Amino acid sequence: MLGLMDPTLAKVDAFVDGQWLNRDKRFSVRNPANGKVLADVSECSAEEVKMAVDAAHRAFPEWAAKPAAERANLLYAWYKLMMNHQEDLGLILTQEQGKPLAEAKGEVAYGAGFVQWFAEEAKRIYGDTIPGPSNDKRLVVIKQPVGVVTAITPWNFPNAMIARKAAAALAAGCTFVVKPASETPLSALAMAELARRAGIPPGVFNVVTGKDAKAIGKVLTEHPLVRKFTFTGSTGVGKALIAQCAGGVKKVSMELGGNAPFIVFDDADLDAAVKGLIASKFRNAGQTCVCANRIFVQQGVYPEFSEKLTSAIKELKVGNGLDEGVTIGPLISESAVDKVQELINESVSQGARILIGGKSTDMGKLFFEPTLLGLVSNHMPIAQEEIFGPVVPMIPFVTEKEAIQLANDTEFGLAAYFYARDIGRVWRVAEGLDYGMVGINEGAISNPAAPFGGMKQSGFGREGSKYGLDDYMEIKYLCMGGI
Ligand code: ADP
Repeated sequence: MLGLMDPTLAKVDAFVDGQWLNRDKRFSVRNPANGKVLADVSECSAEEVKMAVDAAHRAFPEWAAKPAAERANLLYAWYKLMMNHQEDLGLILTQEQGKPLAEAKGEVAYGAGFVQWFAEEAKRIYGDTIPGPSNDKRLVVIKQPVGVVTAITPWNFPNAMIARKAAAALAAGCTFVVKPASETPLSALAMAELARRAGIPPGVFNVVTGKDAKAIGKVLTEHPLVRKFTFTGSTGVGKALIAQCAGGVKKVSMELGGNAPFIVFDDADLDAAVKGLIASKFRNAGQTCVCANRIFVQQGVYPEFSEKLTSAIKELKVGNGLDEGVTIGPLISESAVDKVQELINESVSQGARILIGGKSTDMGKLFFEPTLLGLVSNHMPIAQEEIFGPVVPMIPFVTEKEAIQLANDTEFGLAAYFYARDIGRVWRVAEGLDYGMVGINEGAISNPAAPFGGMKQSGFGREGSKYGLDDYMEIKYLCMGGI
């Protein structure tokens, strides 16, 4: 690990029941910017994952019984430590994941923001009293933590995808076991070290590491002591994991793939739309589930928008995320690049035109050129699949109705964006889009105060906001009679 101010944040073993679990069997974590091995990390077997779930189960009663204010204080201490070590956490993140350092530090602050948010929300878990149908009864609703929560998270946000699940779970009074993506376990382990320093008790926050996602995932979804499973990742894997949870009728939340439309109407502020698109599309080199995936541009403004967008894309700088001024880092793997390249080639063979970019740069295969494609149509694979790369496919349209219909013509429903000025249109389009989140004249929509989540095959459940606790709580109804 390179250049940490606090080298003891570079942990390489699993974290179970407050202990570092050193295994002989290890797997390598590499820096995508240069292919070099950053660390050899402990490979957990199913046995160790069971140990982690058992530890979380043992820790649960005491954690759940703590006054909310105490849980809040511990979460707050964790938040402060994450912010105090933002630079180091950013360095770890950039080196294992590839995103530019400024973005990595931004992700650390974003992740820590969820810990802060849920530290506050822990104190506001309110119940209800309900007017009953007769005078001899009183109806009361209380909320209680579900129990042991397990999670599987992806490599594109190695810090924030864990923070926003763990913070909500811990605030609610649940205990937690996470398996981070094997590409990016180091951020998770550094977070575990900071949770330990914050005084979060053993067994409350556990990290199991390993490359055998199937074997680890089986325990996390099927262990009888697990009450809730939460996943962020691809729709295909998510479906399999939902099925695995069905046997134990576990509570499940899923944050799956997206295919975000980004619609530019002819009454839009085009400069703002270009800025919003750059923010939404090129963050993390296009590897986010809320990235603009299909750009619908109304006919009348298509040439002007395309020209402005071309100039903005030319300003982007591809390179190693640790280098000054770089705005796009490497993609995560060769297979990710192959998929992006294949989608571009297929589109071109079906009539799309490359306006800028279209291939890897001479810095190496993983460094992909920011790419603009014109004359794309909504039925091409590039418009039906999640691209997960720095590619903007532009699709012309004529009417508002057509734009809504094209935007909804996908099995996904996570984020959507549109730019328009007419107030009637703004309402019609916002209500017409079948998406869990809609950015209106805005390309950056995620923050801890907002409910993040999707519809259709993008999943269910919400992370962040006052709704983010719901997935970790049971609603219990008390009927008091004989009054
Ligand atoms: P991505 O495209 O982000 O890699 P995946 O759904 O493949 O999406 O991966 C998200 C997370 O799910 C990662 O932690 C990965 O290791 C894990 N994963 C992949 N396949 C399985 C599986 N069959 N069972 C359990 N976890 C899995």
